[in-house]
Amino acid sequence: MAEKLKRLGLRTVRDLLFLLPIRYEDRTRIQPISGAQPGRKVQIDGMINRARIIMGRRRSLICALRDTSAEITLRFFHFTRQQQAGLRSGTRLLCYGEVRQGPRGLEMVHPEYRRLGESEAAPVEDRLTPVYPATEGVTQPRLRKLAGYALKNAMDDLPELIPQRHLSRLRLPGLLEALRAVHRPPRGMALETLLSGQHPARRRLALEEILAWHLGLRRLRETGQQRNAVALRPEGGLRRKFLARLPFDLTEGQAKAIAEIDADLARAAPMMRLLQGDVGCGKTVVIAAAVLAAVQSGRQAAVMAPTELLAEQHMRTLSDWLEPLGVRLAWLVGGMPRAERRAFEAQLAGGDAQVGIGTHALFQEAVEYRALGLAVVDEQHRFGVHQRLRLVEKGQADAAIPHQLVTTATPIPRSLAMTFYAGLDISAIRDMPPGRRPVNTALVSQERRAKVIERVAAACRAGRQAYWVCPLIDESEHIESSAVEPTYRELRDALAGIRVGLLHGRADPRQRDQVMADFASGKLSVLVATTVIEVGVDIPRASLMIVENAERMGLAQLHQLRGRVGRGEEESHCVLMYRSPLGQIAKERLNTMRNSNDGFEIARKDLALRGAGEILGVRQTGALQFRVADLVRDGALAEPAQRIADDMLRSNPNEVEQLISRWVGEGDRYAQV
Ligand code: ADP
Ligand code: MG
Repeated sequence: MAEKLKRLGLRTVRDLLFLLPIRYEDRTRIQPISGAQPGRKVQIDGMINRARIIMGRRRSLICALRDTSAEITLRFFHFTRQQQAGLRSGTRLLCYGEVRQGPRGLEMVHPEYRRLGESEAAPVEDRLTPVYPATEGVTQPRLRKLAGYALKNAMDDLPELIPQRHLSRLRLPGLLEALRAVHRPPRGMALETLLSGQHPARRRLALEEILAWHLGLRRLRETGQQRNAVALRPEGGLRRKFLARLPFDLTEGQAKAIAEIDADLARAAPMMRLLQGDVGCGKTVVIAAAVLAAVQSGRQAAVMAPTELLAEQHMRTLSDWLEPLGVRLAWLVGGMPRAERRAFEAQLAGGDAQVGIGTHALFQEAVEYRALGLAVVDEQHRFGVHQRLRLVEKGQADAAIPHQLVTTATPIPRSLAMTFYAGLDISAIRDMPPGRRPVNTALVSQERRAKVIERVAAACRAGRQAYWVCPLIDESEHIESSAVEPTYRELRDALAGIRVGLLHGRADPRQRDQVMADFASGKLSVLVATTVIEVGVDIPRASLMIVENAERMGLAQLHQLRGRVGRGEEESHCVLMYRSPLGQIAKERLNTMRNSNDGFEIARKDLALRGAGEILGVRQTGALQFRVADLVRDGALAEPAQRIADDMLRSNPNEVEQLISRWVGEGDRYAQV
């Protein structure tokens, strides 16, 4: 059980308290059968009128259940002889389940039920029934029981950490009251407010989580500032040669960002800087310039990317740029064979490699750096806080810690930035390399797929290159290839004489590297891929992007994907294919994509649409994942959180520590790295 619970991030009994229900069921009332509506879940109490087995397409047990108001059908496809015996005519049942329209009127398929004595009072719950996020092998009743246990036994040593005066001012309840309310809402509590996150109990917990992260970030800054870093010399032969060899001039934004970074690096205190700039603005050049400052000063640099694919690409780009200058690079991703991993570790520990590139594997225990001077977290997720915590620890031995540069393409509103990027100085690149032309975006229904394929064929014959992206049906590894393979085969057959490649995240790193290299060199004309290509991939000659099932993707993700084209001289096109009918919000999202190429504009729209109540069925790139808080919904809590943080740092330093470890604590920190 412990193993299974770990998948939900649950390690201690106390963790159970912070696993919040995703919805609730109302079993506090019994409804007349006549009031049942398709699509709704209800609890009913009635007598079985008739029961029989029918042999339709599937053998099933059918019971007619009647109360004083009406009759409904219960349908069971799986049942034991014993269950069948218990469902005889004349039996009284208390049932809970979803109502649907059956072939002959309303029915419930496999309702939860229990038999009642003829004159027994129906046992209704006095609280709403919580439904928790599911994980394989742990049933809802089990989770409910565990949560109940935690509510009984883990509350005593759960101190209130937010000073009462702040809670009173915001009219928010204490911690224990809030936890009880969300796990065991009393009958009659307004479900809508609880689920929309507007309920004070939810807001109270969200506030605490935001506050904890804010404090954690600020503490990271403070501990950093108390430590030394090795001052790096940004100017020097390497930098000069690098810039001279680049096939382009820096944009103003790039030059300014580099100057800001240089000023930080030259100090003996660790840099903690966020580099923000829209997809395609050229952040990699800035990273390279910073890396060279470390190398020039006899120090090492580490560059971490969120996906293996991006790490591989950084390896290619950075070796193209830096190896001719005599810089030695090494790379590491998760799936590498042990021997290569060892070699990598040895190169960094011995100082043979001056630059290490990889995924989060870079900051695992076994990786020791001889003299790490700069750590870059590219396209950071979850603020890269976990990785940065690890880094501060890695530096402990010689008291100097590395300079830190974190990059992101995800713009967030100012009010949120104050809190979520607390403790980071910000450099923003607001311009694009010259000659970029906006990508033309078209929305095309799935029904015209054949036409789209024809267009791709014609374009490829004219020498163009295209990405064809299929979304993941499911994030599990088996499905990942099956999401793209049929499309790959279809296109390969339909595009006679055109070379088509296939790419997905689970492929062997070397194979993937080869496919990317072939696409980059023009050997492949079409690259069929999952959304693995969404972050960072940079192949300027590709000028066509086809996205299937675009209606299922979030705006941030679509913007990232489209950002893969429009990087070269050629006019670029993006075709967003959708399946009809489109929901209102999906329609607005796709229209936003058609009408705008501006990342800030799109992010604003994204927040507005999500704020409008969209349920996120899709992973958002760079999404900031919290246990309780939601970046959009709880945005208004960012300011109060900051005020409370100021106050607590002055007057409640002990609580600050506890608060951070409660939400950003040990277990979590290592799990995420
Ligand atoms: P991102 O900010 O999304 O990481 P990249 O660093 O991948 O962007 O850069 C996007 C593309 O723009 C790359 O092909 C890069 O070589 C090119 N590029 C970067 N800076 C310039 C510039 N100043 N002039 C022209 N092209 C540039
Ligand atoms: Mg990038």
